Amino acid sequence: MMRGLWLLLVLVAAATAERVFIGDQVIRVNAETEEQIQLLQALEMQEEGELDFWLHPVSTELPVDIRVPRSSFSFVTEYLNAHNIPYSVLINNLQELLDEEKAEMMQNEMKERSSRSFNFGAYHRLETIYSWMDTLVAQYPNLVSKQEIGRSYENRPMYVLKFSTGGNKRPAIWIDTGIHSREWVSPATGLWTANKIATDYGKDTSLTSLLNTMDIYMLLLTNPDGYAYTHSKDRMWRKTRSENPGSRCRGVDPNRNWDAGFAGPGASKNPCSDSYHGPSAHSEIEVKNVVNLIKSHGNFKSFISIHAYSQLLMYPYGYSCKNVAHQPELDSVGRAAVQKLTSLYGTQYKVGSICKIIYQASGGSIDWSYDVGIKYSFAFELRDTGRYGFILPANQILPTATETWLALKHIMEYVRDHPY
Ligand SMILES: [Zn+2]
Repeated sequence: MMRGLWLLLVLVAAATAERVFIGDQVIRVNAETEEQIQLLQALEMQEEGELDFWLHPVSTELPVDIRVPRSSFSFVTEYLNAHNIPYSVLINNLQELLDEEKAEMMQNEMKERSSRSFNFGAYHRLETIYSWMDTLVAQYPNLVSKQEIGRSYENRPMYVLKFSTGGNKRPAIWIDTGIHSREWVSPATGLWTANKIATDYGKDTSLTSLLNTMDIYMLLLTNPDGYAYTHSKDRMWRKTRSENPGSRCRGVDPNRNWDAGFAGPGASKNPCSDSYHGPSAHSEIEVKNVVNLIKSHGNFKSFISIHAYSQLLMYPYGYSCKNVAHQPELDSVGRAAVQKLTSLYGTQYKVGSICKIIYQASGGSIDWSYDVGIKYSFAFELRDTGRYGFILPANQILPTATETWLALKHIMEYVRDHPY
């Protein structure tokens, strides 16, 4: 009996254990020739599931960041050395960084509980974010409402915050954060932004005039199952959590799942890949819920999707390198927005189409939104440029959110002043 109980406890512990990354390194590889890029692409294909490419090999202009588990380290460094490909170590022991992040989060949770306050400069769990939304709605009932747009694969509610001063389906702006669950600074920035919009309405004349004619919709946790999973099991999880029939691997990349060049270049057909496009366009219920809302509303003028990391402001297309019809306008709006962003702390951003500044990637959300007629479609990649990558320290949340706000506000004001 005792022995059975002990065994059960061990099994439970093993089943709930969080994935560890002891000795995992994140290395930055700087390919110098086209041949070296191809060698890195071959490495990525060959080691799919083993190596985690935080930045993919696309051109000699862009770095390649790879999380290398300890067991693969000698193999990978020998491969790079054999081909004379230079690299450096960005993160020496990933688990150390994760332990610090978790300790800081727990400390903050205790502080928030005892002082009944909310710290915008900290990372939070899904439950805390959801209950914070209720606080915001209660504080600003005449401006903010919470709307459930559907449920996730694991049956978590998906809540949109709607900022509206009245009217029936006014022209609207869409902002989503957290579609890739490991990009924590994205929902943290979204949360601060939601609070900023609520507190500045009635004080900031420009934002006030905007909200007197337009609505803003914010989906803070676009991939709630993935987000919960990054807190409970695997900090490096990016995809949804849906099951893939016939595969041991779970999840679909929700930003390769939209009906825009679906299953084309830059998406994987392998369910074990982090960029798996899924069995069909909009197969992921989380994507479908957003599609349904946008379509039934019918009056969105701007669609902004926020990711991390790399410091980029991008517009369509990802699925093709051909210019969109509004390329010159989107480019100039993007450049002006980034100029504002940079003015605060000097943070440097690049501006361009997804295909031209990163790589060809099909099935992305802003390609879909643009193709259904939402002209002002943009995607951000927030801080940093790779020093910490996805594990951006919490002390950078407020600076990131504050500078990003200047760019967001520029785009929103432009949309207000250029009705179409
Ligand atoms: Zn992303």
